[in-house]
Amino acid sequence: MGVALVYSPRYLLHNKGIKHPESPQRLAVLVKGLQNSPFAGEIKWLDPLEIDEEVLLRVHTKSYINLLKAYAFLGGGWLDEDTFVSANSYDIALLAVGGAVRAIEQAWKARDHSFALLRPPGHHASQSRGAGFCLLNNIACAIRYGQEHWGLKKVLVVDWDLHHGNGTQEIFYEDPSVLYFSLHQFPWYPGTGKVEETGKGKGKGYTVNVPLPAGCGDEEYIAVFEEVLIPIAYRFQPDLIAVSAGFDAHFADPIGGMFVSPYGYGMMTRILKELNEELCEGGIFAVLEGGYNLEGLLNSVQAVIGELLDIRFPLQRGERIADDTTRQKVNEVIVEVKDLHSLG
Ligand SMILES: [Zn+2]
Repeated sequence: MGVALVYSPRYLLHNKGIKHPESPQRLAVLVKGLQNSPFAGEIKWLDPLEIDEEVLLRVHTKSYINLLKAYAFLGGGWLDEDTFVSANSYDIALLAVGGAVRAIEQAWKARDHSFALLRPPGHHASQSRGAGFCLLNNIACAIRYGQEHWGLKKVLVVDWDLHHGNGTQEIFYEDPSVLYFSLHQFPWYPGTGKVEETGKGKGKGYTVNVPLPAGCGDEEYIAVFEEVLIPIAYRFQPDLIAVSAGFDAHFADPIGGMFVSPYGYGMMTRILKELNEELCEGGIFAVLEGGYNLEGLLNSVQAVIGELLDIRFPLQRGERIADDTTRQKVNEVIVEVKDLHSLG
């Protein structure tokens, strides 16, 4: 399988002109770095689809979309203390959803691994509210589009961003066709993502949360993948694996308290790739979420893409590892999640 990246320089235009961790530089540095990387020649670059509001209405309420447009029309503002809207943010957020749709199309129909390098990010945005730097839920809109237009049925969402994707969880909470799996620092923003949050109604059991203490590194993330995600994926039998790929669990991230290194992101990608080969026909579909240390973001995304391309190069490993208390706590959480989800 090839690897396709979806990007538009217009993604840099969502910009309040202030110092903010979710800055246009994140993507500018990332894309420049990838274009100069040793495997640049192997990557296909695709433009986002130009979509209209209809696509958003499968996930978001009309009143929230109108609110976003009104903010943008009035020159921008703040949805909460972290989440800005600039004059063109509605258009750019719509183009971000179009990037996610283009990427899922490439994974599902053209059978490439795909990664949408977009901003603003999406996993904190729920049906009726933007939050945590997120305006529209890119991954959820893309999944709904695929289900509606191409007969895509079951999707496994793997959210390895540092934070819990409360928006994505809420959108699919009662839906057994989308299994939402998240590992995240806890307690931490946004406060959701407890083990007991497992879905509702027909969706009961189709939300899997692994809340982790601060201070986890590669080994803990890989252990959660091996002990929880792999059995969950085999039981669910997804048609497509979608990744909310945030990189704020990187050891140098200014927001997070985890120590994941590019090596860890590469290894998590390898596990997803093996699952994908066993269970799915298309490629893996990934969407960028957080990640606020520019060098850490680039090195980590390179590790993911290298793994997807089967190009193994020496990956940077962090020096800090979890202490015994943290590791013990992680083991307890893993047991708790496996018990609650009857994973034996
Ligand atoms: Zn995050």
